[in-house]
Amino acid sequence: MSNKNYKMAIVGYGGMGSYHTKLVEPVEGLTVTGAFDIKPDRMAAALEKGFTGYGSLDELLGDNEVDVVLIATPNDVHKDIAIQALRAGKHVICEKPVTITSSELLEIIAVQQETGQIFSVHQNRRWDEDFLLVKHVMEKRQIGDTFHIESRVQGANGIPGDWRQLKEPGGGMLLDWGVHLLDQLLLLTDSKVESVWTELSMILGTEVDDGFTSFIKFEDGLTALIEVGTTNYIKLPRWYVKGNEGTAIVRDWDLSGEIVCNNPDVVKVEPKPIQAGQGLTKTMAPPSEQSTLRLPLEKPPISAQSFYENFVSTLDGRTEQLVKNEEALRVLRLIETIFESAEKRTVINDLHL
Ligand code: NAD
Repeated sequence: MSNKNYKMAIVGYGGMGSYHTKLVEPVEGLTVTGAFDIKPDRMAAALEKGFTGYGSLDELLGDNEVDVVLIATPNDVHKDIAIQALRAGKHVICEKPVTITSSELLEIIAVQQETGQIFSVHQNRRWDEDFLLVKHVMEKRQIGDTFHIESRVQGANGIPGDWRQLKEPGGGMLLDWGVHLLDQLLLLTDSKVESVWTELSMILGTEVDDGFTSFIKFEDGLTALIEVGTTNYIKLPRWYVKGNEGTAIVRDWDLSGEIVCNNPDVVKVEPKPIQAGQGLTKTMAPPSEQSTLRLPLEKPPISAQSFYENFVSTLDGRTEQLVKNEEALRVLRLIETIFESAEKRTVINDLHL
C-alpha cells in the first residue's frame, strides 16, 4: 500500500485521457483530480466528472497539489509537455508513442535525469493476456525452441480519428498500433535485432501509413513478421508462433486457439499422402494424429502489478519501474529503422539494435 495519496492531472482529456480515469479508479494511492484540454467540450466533460478544470497547461503545472501529470494528447506535443511538467517538479506518465523520434525521447530523458522525477510510458499492452500467453508458451517451451513469430492486428475500418490520418501530429498505424506490437516483440527475446525489411501500406490515400508489414530478424536467428492492417475484411490470427516441436495459434484477444506439437511419448508416424487439388502430397499432409498432441492454450500467469500499481510503488521507492525508458527508446529506434527500410525499399542490415 502506498505511503501517500498522489494526485494526478490529465493533459489531453480525449478518448484515452478519459479512459485513464477508469484505470486509476481501483489503484490505491493515486487519484485523478484535474484536467486540461484545448477543446472546450472536453473541458466541460472533465468538469462534469468533478475534476478541477485548468485554463492552461501553465495553470495546471503551477498547482502544487498535483504530483503526477498524464499526457494523453496527440503525439507531436508529448515532448514539450513532458519537459515542462518535469521541470515543474511533476512526475510524468506519457501515452505511447512516447515521442515521434528517438532524439525527442533523449531530450526528455536528459531532463528526467536532471530533475530526478519519474517518467514512464504507458505501454499498456504489455499486460494483454494474448501477449502474456505467447510469452508463457515460449518460456515453457511448449512448442520447443521458438524460431518464428507472427503478430498481427487487422481491421476493416480504415484509420480512425482526425489527427491519426495526418503526418505532423504523429499519425499513421506504425506509430499507433505498431508501437504496441514492437514493444511486445522486443520483450519476447533477449536477442538484438539484426535486420529489418518493411513495406508500408498506403491503400487509403492518406498522407500516413494505413498499415505495414515488417520482417524482423534477430541475431539468434529468431524471425518475426509484424503486420498492422486497416483494410482487412477477413483478418488473420492475432498470433502464429512456430517452434521446432510444434506450432501455437492465438486467434484473437479472447485467447481462442491451440497448440499442436509432437507427442514425446510416441515414435513419429509418417504421414499418408493426401489428395491436394490435382495432385497428391505427403509434404503438405497434416501431421499424423498418432504422433501429435492438440493442447488447449493455458491461461498465462497474471502480472503481480498493473501499470498504475507499479507506477505508484515506483513513486514510493518500493519497486523498479516496469516500463523502462531505455526500452521505449529501443522501440522508437526500431520504428525509425522500419520507416527507413520502407523509404529506401531495402533490407536494413547489421543493426545490433
Ligand atoms: P483524442 O484525439 O481522442 O484526444 C486527444 C485530446 O488531446 C483531444 O481532446 C485534444 O483536444 C487534446 N489536445 C490536443 N493538443 C493539446 C494540447 N496541446 N494540450 C492539451 N490538450 C490537447 O486522441 P486519443 O485517442 O485519446 O490519443 C491520445 C494519446 O493517447 C495519443 O498519444 C495516442 O497514441 C494514445 N493512445 C494510447 C492508447 C493505448 O492503448 N495506450 C490508446 C489510444 C490512444
